[in-house]
Amino acid sequence: MDIRDVVVIGSGCAGHTAALYTARANLKPLVLEGHQPGGQLSLTTLVENFPGFPDGIQGPELIENMRKQAARFGAEYRMGHVSKANLSKRPFELSLGKETILSRTLIIASGASARWLGLPNEQALIGRGVSSCATCDGFFFSGKEITVIGGGDSAMEEATFLTRFASKVTLIHRRDEFRASKIMLDRARSNSKIAFMTDTVVDDVLDASKQEVTSLRLRNLKSGKSRDFPTSAMFLGIGHIPNAKIFEGQLDTDADGYLVTTKNVFTKVPGVFACGDVQDRRYRQAITAAGSGCMAALEVEKYLEEVGH
Ligand code: NAP
Repeated sequence: MDIRDVVVIGSGCAGHTAALYTARANLKPLVLEGHQPGGQLSLTTLVENFPGFPDGIQGPELIENMRKQAARFGAEYRMGHVSKANLSKRPFELSLGKETILSRTLIIASGASARWLGLPNEQALIGRGVSSCATCDGFFFSGKEITVIGGGDSAMEEATFLTRFASKVTLIHRRDEFRASKIMLDRARSNSKIAFMTDTVVDDVLDASKQEVTSLRLRNLKSGKSRDFPTSAMFLGIGHIPNAKIFEGQLDTDADGYLVTTKNVFTKVPGVFACGDVQDRRYRQAITAAGSGCMAALEVEKYLEEVGH
């Protein structure tokens, strides 16, 4: 069976950058794109903080450019989700559907996926008014009153974006302080279509029997009082969970499931490197993900030079 020099799991900023660098080092990387090709940038709108684009660039365009750039140097892309990984022997084994892929080194750039609230009726209403992707689903709520949950940059970005469609956006946050950056918070605060509701949690989303969102059951944490708040949609902007489940028991993770790395991108298994949001709980930016993808690629080159191809 063919043994690859390097396989990259994931096709966000980190994965494409790792692919670009390993392709230019003539290692013919295979990139396994995962469930959500392009990662989080493919679900976002205008990116204003990736250097090199003075007027900003749309997230999907930025990620597509990265993919094209890596492909130009010979990176090979394959759709599909890795269901199993065996890191206990070399070459490493990855299961992609019924296929087994063997590789001397591995770059894990599997990113992070949207976090859900875990409400009793949440799953039943996903795609019916419950969403974690404003750019995907915002259009369906033109002229409606909707809600966004969260107090970070994602929630601010979603709320601001959704005012393009909705008649009113209520941003609901569990505290009265926000972890969003000042510029994003100020932008949301100055938008007359956005109302802020703080110290409030969502206990459930209704009405699953009608197969649409009609209201949220809210609880004010200060007064303890509950009430039903009419709304047509609930968009979640409450952070992400690292996609590292298939490595459980083989690689170290922290309490929240992020892969633990040393010297930026080294896992405890020689030849296996991790980069981007799956291992970075601190910065989580497109540019830092790209940077760590580069580091992982350079370490793969060094590792292969040391152990031989
Ligand atoms: P985040 O910064 O971790 O914020 C998550 C928010 O959701 C927090 O306000 C948190 O509340 C709240 N939350 C978490 N779990 C909750 C729960 N179970 N119930 C209710 N609320 C909950 O995540 P993020 O906003 O996705 O941002 C992640 C990273 O991406 C950040 O570094 C951010 O700067 C970056 N980002 C940047 C941009 C941009 O610059 N354009 C856009 C989006 C994201 P607490 O505050 O109470 O913990």
